[in-house]
Amino acid sequence: MNCPNCGNPASPGAAQCTFCGTPFKPNQATPNPFAGDMPPGKPLPGQPAPQTARMEDDPALRMLIPIGRSPQAIFAGYAGLISFGCCLLGPIAVALGFVALKDIKQDPKLGGKWRAIFGIVTGVITTIALILGGIVLLAEALAG
Ligand SMILES: [Zn+2]
Repeated sequence: MNCPNCGNPASPGAAQCTFCGTPFKPNQATPNPFAGDMPPGKPLPGQPAPQTARMEDDPALRMLIPIGRSPQAIFAGYAGLISFGCCLLGPIAVALGFVALKDIKQDPKLGGKWRAIFGIVTGVITTIALILGGIVLLAEALAG
């Protein structure tokens, strides 16, 4: 603990501060590993319990943190969103990869050949996924 008056470190159990002479109250002399200089932050009686109880009542938070919804639906939504973004990047990755490979062929000192090939491969995969996803969406739209 530190002296409440001058802030210098005080030895636990000391009756008064060795730097400024301020007498310590008995409870202040008890070393508290969690409290440091600050008084212990206990919640005031009568105040609502922290966070969890109030969160479900906040509509803004409910939009950010879905509560009371199917976890599968949440994962499906996020996965769809991410794959949609990735799939749009797929054709770009393929195009950039081929451009990079052409550059590397003309100047073999340029590195990053395997990086370009990786971009093409993953880009092709996500492009195929984009096409398949489009077919599935189209089929569902036509069937429904
Ligand atoms: Zn002191």
